[in-house]
Amino acid sequence: MEVRTPVYKLNSDFCKDLYVKREDMIPYSFGGNKARKAVLFFDEIDRLGADYVVTYGSSHSNHCRVIANMAAQRGLKCLIIGPSEVSDPTYNSKLMDILGAEIITVPVDEVKGTIDAKIEELRKAGHDPYFIMGGGHGNIGTRAYVQCYREIKEFEKENSISFDYIFLASGTGTTQAGLVCGQLLEGDDKKIIGISIARKNPRGRDVVIESIRDYLKEEPGRGQIAEDVIQENTIFLDEYTGDGYGRDNKEITKTIEKALVNYGMPLDCTYTGKAFWGMEQYIRRKYLSDKKILFIHTGGTPLFFDELDKMRR
Ligand SMILES: *Cc1c(COP(=O)(O)O)cnc(C)c1O
Repeated sequence: MEVRTPVYKLNSDFCKDLYVKREDMIPYSFGGNKARKAVLFFDEIDRLGADYVVTYGSSHSNHCRVIANMAAQRGLKCLIIGPSEVSDPTYNSKLMDILGAEIITVPVDEVKGTIDAKIEELRKAGHDPYFIMGGGHGNIGTRAYVQCYREIKEFEKENSISFDYIFLASGTGTTQAGLVCGQLLEGDDKKIIGISIARKNPRGRDVVIESIRDYLKEEPGRGQIAEDVIQENTIFLDEYTGDGYGRDNKEITKTIEKALVNYGMPLDCTYTGKAFWGMEQYIRRKYLSDKKILFIHTGGTPLFFDELDKMRR
């Protein structure tokens, strides 16, 4: 699946040149960054001929929905291990069910042991399982967003524009790591700003940097990229996390309503709504309203519907 997601300008009241790249419009299983990553994971699964896909995520996970869908499409078994603490029914979990994924929930501190035990069990039963880290973390996931960065470059060239800033929701940091690697390999100097949706610094930023290092190790020519350049290019803001993962606040809800009314664009309070709100705060605070800014809409359409009940009627 080779797709270029749409990029277009929003008629924003806080920034003159605000563009959005709609990763939520990747035409597979409600799209999103997890779909872009999953395509590359399944290239690997197809190449290796694995017969069982194992992954990790909560009942809210966009990643698990897409993995369940791609496994079902191939007739592969899919096992999802999730934390019992976050296992309430959602549209994503309903889709996982319909797609035939087997879902096991255990307390979060037993997750790692359960994954290891299940994979061992599958091997003993003659299966050839392939494990995908939660959220599609790892070099394969990173590579998906190196490719996305190239798409952004193509858009810039074709439209004679150069973005000064790129904003996105950062969770495991893989998406951000891919974009930063893309930028480092091109030798660009945009500011790529990850708005943390949960993790605090220094850990949040350290995880992004680790992913960048891991990826560049595999890349020929990495020798030219110095550690201080990696440090300088990794901006991870942890002041817009609201009350933590999945928790919104009034301002985020207002941002979501506004984006629906003004742009006809769905945002959710776990990821894109939080990031969009954080971006607006940051633009106002740093007086960036005359900069050329790209917001990456990383997906999560089913979460938007989960939250409809909270919206004004
Ligand atoms: C998972 C997810 C993110 C975060 O992506 P990471 O690569 O884990 O940082 C952002 N937005 C949405 C909608 C997601 O599902």
